[in-house]
Parts: sequence; C-alpha cells; structure tokens
Amino acid sequence: MIIINGKKVAAEIREELKKKINNLKLEGKTVPGLVAILVGDNPASDSYVRGKSKACEEISMITKTERLSSDISEKDLLELIQKYNSDKIFNGILVQLPLPKHISEGKVIETILPAKDVDGFHPISVGNLVIGNDTFLPCTPAGIQELLVKYNIPIKGKHVVVVGRSNIVGKPISNILLQKKENANAIVTICHSAAKDISYFSKQADILIAAIGQPNFVKREMVKDGVVVIDVGINRLKDETHPKGYRIVGDVDFDEVSKKASFITPVPGGVGPMTIAMLLKNTFKAYLIQN
Ligand code: NDP
Repeated sequence: MIIINGKKVAAEIREELKKKINNLKLEGKTVPGLVAILVGDNPASDSYVRGKSKACEEISMITKTERLSSDISEKDLLELIQKYNSDKIFNGILVQLPLPKHISEGKVIETILPAKDVDGFHPISVGNLVIGNDTFLPCTPAGIQELLVKYNIPIKGKHVVVVGRSNIVGKPISNILLQKKENANAIVTICHSAAKDISYFSKQADILIAAIGQPNFVKREMVKDGVVVIDVGINRLKDETHPKGYRIVGDVDFDEVSKKASFITPVPGGVGPMTIAMLLKNTFKAYLIQN
C-alpha cells in the first residue's frame, strides 16, 4: 500500500511555478497576480484566504486580499469584481465562498471574467469542462487528477466511483475523469445521498473518490482489494487529547481501508494541499492567456 503524499506533490508544483516566475522577472516581465475577495469574518474562510495569499507570496506571485464587511451590498461587490476584471495586475480573481445570504453566489461567479476565473466555477468554465474544451479546472478536482498522474495510477478504462455530487468536487472530478482525453477516459459512477446502498457502488470501484463531508464514512467492507482511495473529506472530530480539542479526519476510515487499498490519500496531507497548488497553477495559466 502506498500513501499518496499530496504535501510533497504540492510543494513540487509550487517550486516549479516559483522558477517560472523568477524567469519572468529575469526577463524583465510582469509576474502573475491573484486577488482574493473575502466578505465577512468567517474564521474558516479567513484562514483559507490567508493560506492562499501566503502561498502566492512564497512563489513571488502578486497577491492582494480585499476584506469586505458582511453587510456590503451585492451591487458594491459586483462593481468591485468588475473593477478587477479590467485590472491588468491581477490575472486571477477569487471570491471566497460562502457569501452572506443577501448576496447571490451565482451572480457573483457569473460576474468574474471567464479569463480570470481561476476557481473554475463560472458557468462558461463548467460548460467548457463538460464538452471537453481547455478551461480552468476547479482546483480540488484538478489536484486529484494531478495526484493520480504523479503516482502513475492508470485511469483509462478504470471504474471510478465518486461519492458526492457537489459543484466544487463531485461533479467536476466526474467530468474531468470521464473525458476522452489523456489522464482520463474512465468509466465514472456518481453516488449521492439518494443512493440506498453506497456499498453496492463503492465495492465496484477501481478508484474510489469520497467527497461527502462525513467523518470516516467509508469502511473496509465497502471497498475491494487493491482499490485506489482518494479521500477529499475534511472533518473535525472532537478529541480532548488534542491541543485544539479536535482532530481532522477524512471521509474514509484510513486505518481500516488502508489495509485493503493499493494507494490511499491521508487526511490531512493528501488532497488538501493540492487545492492551493492548483489555484496557483490556474493563476499562472490565466497570466499566460492574458499576456
Ligand atoms: P457538499 O456538502 O457540498 O456535498 C456533499 C455531497 O455528498 C453531496 O452531493 C451529498 O449528497 C453527498 N452526501 C452527503 N452525505 C452522504 C451520504 N451519507 N451518502 C452519500 N452521499 C452523501 O460537500 P463538498 O463537496 O463541498 O465537500 C465534501 C468534503 O470535502 C467536505 O468534507 C469538505 O470539507 C471537503 N473538501 C475538501 C477540499 C480540499 O481542499 N481538500 C475542498 C472542498 C471540499 P446530496 O447531493 O444528495 O446532498
């Protein structure tokens, strides 16, 4: 059994990007820029945005965070996004979700210029993904594909079972892996909460991707021998023995399932670190498109 080291792969991607950005500097060119827009004071969102801007700084990417009060009007937020749409310094725009209830996430996402949609959530990016055009892939699913490729795990013709159908993870990873393309071309089954028996599907998986947000949901008897397991879940489990009073676990019971798996991602240190690395990669791609 091989533990997939997302932390290491993500560090390699950041290092590659850092070199490319240094080369741009040496050539006297501008460097890529990412603006993050954060509305309100949700601690988790704040910590994600800080992580993203720190990662940008580490690779010498220009970064800025717009911190807005939770009572900002939808109109003002849309105007700010428009401003960054025509800003030459920032090639990527990220609006941290979730947003306060009075603001339509759909309208916000649709206001971001598709050429700057580094999260890959704009309907145009999503449509391009579905029909197989080159586009910005959402970061977490793109990170999953990258991990499979980096570990030389065959995808073509394999049965991938995805548990979860969110727009952020489940649907895009399913669409990415079913494309008739290199590093894809899988047979994909998608399950969700309406499935009466997830085991029926998960037992058939050559590659099982769990993205449901239920701690330790996938058990040993739910998978077959030799399965490749990608655990996307990030769940807090109460644990008084931990300094923080909780520990982070995935959607897969790692101790049990790892005994049957050929490859498995740990939580933390598996898919998680890949998300920011792919965001940086998308921002670099946006820079190239715009220059
Ligand atoms: P959502 O809550 O948006 O979606 C969860 C999906 O799982 C839904 O489709 C839901 O079904 C399905 N589901 C929930 N419970 C069950 C169940 N018991 N059986 C079958 N299906 C179920 O979550 P996300 O996709 O945003 O995130 C999933 C997990 O991944 C979370 O733990 C999240 O924290 C983590 N995550 C990690 C990231 C990373 O960087 N590593 C990035 C994004 C998310 P239905 O549609 O029917 O409600």
